[in-house]
Amino acid sequence: MKNEELVNYHGTQVVSWWVEKIEAAQKYPKYAINGTEFERVRYGSESVSYGAEERSCHDCAVVAGSYHVPSCDVEECPNCHEQAISCGCDYSAETSEIQAERLHVKKFRERKPLSFWDKLMGKK
Ligand SMILES: [Zn+2]
Ligand SMILES: [Zn+2]
Repeated sequence: MKNEELVNYHGTQVVSWWVEKIEAAQKYPKYAINGTEFERVRYGSESVSYGAEERSCHDCAVVAGSYHVPSCDVEECPNCHEQAISCGCDYSAETSEIQAERLHVKKFRERKPLSFWDKLMGKK
């Protein structure tokens, strides 16, 4: 893994390359689901409140009003309003880089023990 130096991102400790993931996520405002384009749900606009006004996303560290990093477990599916990472909607029509990003981060998480992920996100 490249540079794993911890940096402060709006009050959350994250590894430096995670900031690039967050910035990349902001470039993709839409998901293609079941063949239709949907505006992604920004942090703070979910059906359930995650306390976006008080703190950054506990899973991907974005601040209120930002798009989650694809594969974040807080991100809501704009179609069915379940968790975007585990809902049954068909994201296979999504051909942009975001699809690759989802898969990349998903695989990364599966490969790493949870403790590593927590360390990565600055949790204990
Ligand atoms: Zn998130
Ligand atoms: Zn869905």
